Amino acid sequence: MSLIVMKFGGSSVGTTERMQRVARRIADYKEAGHKVVVVVSAMGDTTDDLIDQSKKLNPNPPAREMDMLLTTGEQISVALLSMAIHAIGHSAVSFTGWQAGIRTEAVHSKARITDITPDRIFAALDAGSAVIVAGFQGMTLEGEITTLGRGGSDTTAVALAAAIKADVCEIYTDVDGVYSTDPRVVKCARKLDEISYDEMLELANLGAAVLHPRAVEYAKHYNVRLVVRSSFTQNEGTSVKEEAVMEQGVVVRGIAFDKNVARISILGVEDEPGVLAKVFGALADNGIDVDIIVQSGVQGGKADFSFTVSLDDEEKAKQVVESIRGNVPYREVTSEVGLVKVSIVGAGMVSNPGVAAKMFDVISKLGVSIKMVSTSEIKVSCVIAAEQVQDVIRGLHTAYGLDTAEQVFVGGPQDRR
Ligand code: ADP
Ligand code: ASP
Ligand code: MG
Repeated sequence: MSLIVMKFGGSSVGTTERMQRVARRIADYKEAGHKVVVVVSAMGDTTDDLIDQSKKLNPNPPAREMDMLLTTGEQISVALLSMAIHAIGHSAVSFTGWQAGIRTEAVHSKARITDITPDRIFAALDAGSAVIVAGFQGMTLEGEITTLGRGGSDTTAVALAAAIKADVCEIYTDVDGVYSTDPRVVKCARKLDEISYDEMLELANLGAAVLHPRAVEYAKHYNVRLVVRSSFTQNEGTSVKEEAVMEQGVVVRGIAFDKNVARISILGVEDEPGVLAKVFGALADNGIDVDIIVQSGVQGGKADFSFTVSLDDEEKAKQVVESIRGNVPYREVTSEVGLVKVSIVGAGMVSNPGVAAKMFDVISKLGVSIKMVSTSEIKVSCVIAAEQVQDVIRGLHTAYGLDTAEQVFVGGPQDRR
């Protein structure tokens, strides 16, 4: 008998029929004698639809009310899934995040889980029920409802698995596991049998939506056995673990891309000590995360520099830069959108010179110009114009020997949701 956490994403519970299929899967585990805690996302496009609806009433809705609204999506899912399990003769009980004892910091829309008190979960498991918990939500000490950021149900699942010391946390989604790149973009993407926490964390942070970055962080920190697999097939999936077996000669494990990028450039800045500290200090004070920073050459005592922020922060970042003009004189601030950050990731990179050069070569041979670059021990990222991103990803996938011979069956419906 094992204690298992299963997490089902939005597409896995997007219709009544899919909900029934999930209920059957849970019942199979119960019949095999396992104790099961299930985390569920909102059905299909519910979260997006709720956001669209709110924007029609208020383009800038209060974050507290937004969390109040979005948490309803997961609440619908848990109640319906519990009913579907009862309908096939098993007992189940649904909990909101707060009923499951999930406490978060007092931040709306991207709260971190601070602690979990799983007493009610254990009591329900002991009573023989499957426990169905709403993903992506928690409550602050003051009793306010919070959400964990888009895709945050993965994090609920891993945090619960750590808190109840589950034997395994299975993330069920609409593809067969973690692939060398998004299998919906590159048809000959390769499914990975295993991947290390560090590589997965890098891929997730760099845009691979298959796992929420914070879920991987928790899994690494608490050493949770994590498996990503399809809710539509019985295939084995991908194991995410501390050390993953390295295939001979594979230096790049995967390619990620992120369209949520805007570039801000500040031109003609006085080149004197403390300028960068003032600019990035002001951005940080306004809660804006800055990613890649590039300073170009100095001419006549003036410098230009650029940095990237998420698309949502584009306008705000420009306003902040304008607000400090009195303190940091410059000629002009501009912004650019329609960009993508493409990244190659692999733990083997550190001991293999020439990996970055090959990336630049592939991109330049496609006639695409690289606007910004950033590197770390296990990744290289390039910001390029969005139009040719598919060609670039495919070119890199082939160049680093990641293509499979056959086109893949990704395990889920091609018509997403
Ligand atoms: P869920 O609703 O189950 O949480 P998500 O849409 O959040 O599902 O994540 C699954 C999707 O992640 C896949 O459909 C796929 O398009 C995308 N994806 C991006 N990169 C990868 C990758 N490297 N491996 C697998 N899937 C990926
Ligand atoms: N429903 C939330 C979202 O769409 C959380 C999740 O699916 O993990 O982002
Ligand atoms: Mg997800």
